Amino acid sequence: MKRRAFVGALGLGAAATLAGCRQEAANCAEGASSTNTGKVINWTMVTTWPKNFQGLGESAELLAQTINQLSGGRMKVTVMGAGDLVPALQVFDTVASGTAQMGHGASYYWKGKLPVAPIFSAVPFGLNAQEMNGWLYQGGGLELWQELYQPLGLIPMPAGNSGVQMAGWFNKEINSLDDIQGLKMRIPGLGGEVFKRAGGTPELIPGAELFAALERGRIDATEWVGPYNDLAFGLHKAAKYYYYPGWHEPGTTLEAIINQQAFAALPSDLQAIVKAACTIANYDTLSFFTRKNNEALTELTEKHKVVLKKLPSDVLQRFEALSHEVVEELADSDAFARRVYQSYQQYKQQVSSWHQVSERAFYDLRG
Ligand code: CA
Repeated sequence: MKRRAFVGALGLGAAATLAGCRQEAANCAEGASSTNTGKVINWTMVTTWPKNFQGLGESAELLAQTINQLSGGRMKVTVMGAGDLVPALQVFDTVASGTAQMGHGASYYWKGKLPVAPIFSAVPFGLNAQEMNGWLYQGGGLELWQELYQPLGLIPMPAGNSGVQMAGWFNKEINSLDDIQGLKMRIPGLGGEVFKRAGGTPELIPGAELFAALERGRIDATEWVGPYNDLAFGLHKAAKYYYYPGWHEPGTTLEAIINQQAFAALPSDLQAIVKAACTIANYDTLSFFTRKNNEALTELTEKHKVVLKKLPSDVLQRFEALSHEVVEELADSDAFARRVYQSYQQYKQQVSSWHQVSERAFYDLRG
């Protein structure tokens, strides 16, 4: 990831002020008195991704580097890949306990502990990246997310977005719902439940094992992320058909989680820097994926002759109906889940009306 990408993202406003703050730390009145001790604050960031993993792991690195840079060296965040300090799925507990001060991953990994958590990462047929940001930053979503994690000693922040993902790789053509019946596909989260209700067999397989599972026929299909990440995994060598759209993950938000006590111990200007760095990582990751996916898709279709296809409309219609059913059931699970669902749904209805006459109308016009 190029350093100048951060600089571009600094145009977000507050961060530009922070850059100035870094250069003239002594002049930044708020918090300055408690920060001039000369002692570097060392934080460990544990992640659900392997170290320097394409795309997602790069997002974690970008976040750490941004904090280090904006703090002018007063903070040093060190990234630990999945398995370096703890396995991927122990990231949440490790940060909650204070063993690490910070984590990077996605909230749908904590579904077993917090069933409503996936709504803050990806909802099938839900909000896209732009809309997720609107809900989280301006529509009350982030406050609800923070309320959910608060009793566990964690502060969540959006810290990356993949954009619309791809439906996935299939070793045979999908021509109708009949082709979904009994199909073994790696597809996690709420999308996996939808796939199951449509007659498929969802499998949970860690990313690192995907290629072998698909190549050896343990599964018939897999979703992963999008062209950039999928190309890096070599999934085109294991399956011929690449389907869109990513109905199950329309704008997956990555998360930073921060230990509450560690955050409270920071002077206020460094707290602001950590928050601003998460926002920068959130937008810069989306920009990064948008460019890389575009390049990778061209390589997949032109160089590797991948067959790019859209899922049939009867399949998508069935998935959509089942998605509403699955999310409704989640909303019925408890009072807090109902609040999150209502906030999300209300925002979705409003933004959908606006996007009909703005984004959709413009895409239809532009092609
Ligand atoms: Ca995915």
